[in-house]
Amino acid sequence: MIYYTDRKEQIVIMLYGKCMCPCGGGQSCIVDRRELNDWVHEDNLFLENKLPLRKDCFQQYTNKQLKALENFTTKDSLC
Ligand SMILES: [Zn+2]
Repeated sequence: MIYYTDRKEQIVIMLYGKCMCPCGGGQSCIVDRRELNDWVHEDNLFLENKLPLRKDCFQQYTNKQLKALENFTTKDSLC
């Protein structure tokens, strides 16, 4: 018997057998989170900035994406 501590991870395993992402999946995996219609911070940010989304966790950020993330972090630290 296998116990899963993360409920969402369990759902992913049940539905797909294995994660489609090279990172192996998990709570912070953007692929897993999209599959579960979970809120993905970077997706939200990139959509706001009209930038393409990353295919999976191992895909490199483009310069524009990095800029958007940087801007968000800067804004956040001012709060
Ligand atoms: Zn991933």
